[in-house]
Amino acid sequence: MDNEDLLHPARKYFEITDSTAKCLISPKCKHHIQPLKGVHAGNMLKHLKRWHKKEAAAVEKTRGKSKPKKRKFVSDEPLITAKFLKSSLIEGCLEMVSVNGRPFSILEDSGFKTIISPFTAAFGNSFAINEENIRSQVPVKAEAIRSKLKSDLEGRLICLKVDSAKRMTRSFLG
Ligand SMILES: [Zn+2]
Repeated sequence: MDNEDLLHPARKYFEITDSTAKCLISPKCKHHIQPLKGVHAGNMLKHLKRWHKKEAAAVEKTRGKSKPKKRKFVSDEPLITAKFLKSSLIEGCLEMVSVNGRPFSILEDSGFKTIISPFTAAFGNSFAINEENIRSQVPVKAEAIRSKLKSDLEGRLICLKVDSAKRMTRSFLG
């Protein structure tokens, strides 16, 4: 039983034992004669609402005051719904650290985390984007590119022109 249940204002109208709750509002009440089975505040409130409207209203009033309202997402900006694949998110991250030449540490930046937070939240707890798991995707991606190139070029005649140059102490192959 959680705290909210234990502190529930409906409980004060009942004499509560380990497994029953006896209604104290009226000696004529059916749950005074035959106590309610179980000690869940929700059931007590249900009983009050059905048989003791005045008390139920009082309970609701106290609960309304003390129970914090769930925070709603309030914004003037339009909320959007978008379709996005997990794989696209990973692809995008890989592109940043390879094609775009960004350091892996960008994946740990707070701004980046803010941007991707709706995705990671939607994909569930087991899904995360971080330096470590994107780094581990690099060899996987490289292998995929290699095998695609291989199958694309298979059986085709290719002409490769190789040129090399030396600049200062470094060699270039192009
Ligand atoms: Zn009653």
